[in-house]
Amino acid sequence: MKELVVATRNRGKLLEIQAMLTGLVASVRCAGDFTGFPETVEDGATFEENALKKAREAVNFCGLPALADDSGLVVDALEGRPGVYSARFAGEGAGDAANNAKLLSELAGVQCEVKKAAFVCTLAFVTPEGVEQIFTGTVAGSILASARGEGGFGYDPLFLVDGYDRTMAELSVDEKNRISHRGQAFRLFCEYLQKGCERS
Ligand code: IMP
Repeated sequence: MKELVVATRNRGKLLEIQAMLTGLVASVRCAGDFTGFPETVEDGATFEENALKKAREAVNFCGLPALADDSGLVVDALEGRPGVYSARFAGEGAGDAANNAKLLSELAGVQCEVKKAAFVCTLAFVTPEGVEQIFTGTVAGSILASARGEGGFGYDPLFLVDGYDRTMAELSVDEKNRISHRGQAFRLFCEYLQKGCERS
């Protein structure tokens, strides 16, 4: 594939994505490469709705194939919250510490031994020709009563990964990429490009 626009202003995310798409996409660009790139209002009820909305707006603006992602934490005992509100669980502009404190306070009254949860990442790929494809990665785990580990970001220190005796914040970057929701979703997208499906 010649050109792909990634609907993100996060340069760190872009660098990771560029690395994963080496050999599959000749030129990966991002929102910051275009003047007036649309600022999508993420008001969808699901990760898929938000990712699709971002990708569609990017395609309409740039006229190029676009990729957008949305991700977050889904907690069973909270009926799926924080979900699409993961980044702003403790309010607009809230940081990781405030969001984690809010999560712990909401779960404090919950009477179950294992507080099951999952990280979910949804990618939407949209082209000017009308292709719309969704790729989703999920990693299962549970929420601890207190933080463990220094790595990662967001809810990682509270998220004990199923099948591991470690939180997401106690995994190395490579280990996290191998099992994470984001890693899984991007591998599915890469397989899709490798098969040349975007041309059909
Ligand atoms: P975004 O969609 O990548 O911007 O992520 C939305 C929010 O979900 C982040 O601000 C985090 O709070 C949470 N989140 C997404 N992925 C992760 C992860 O891998 N670890 C911890 N928190 C995450």
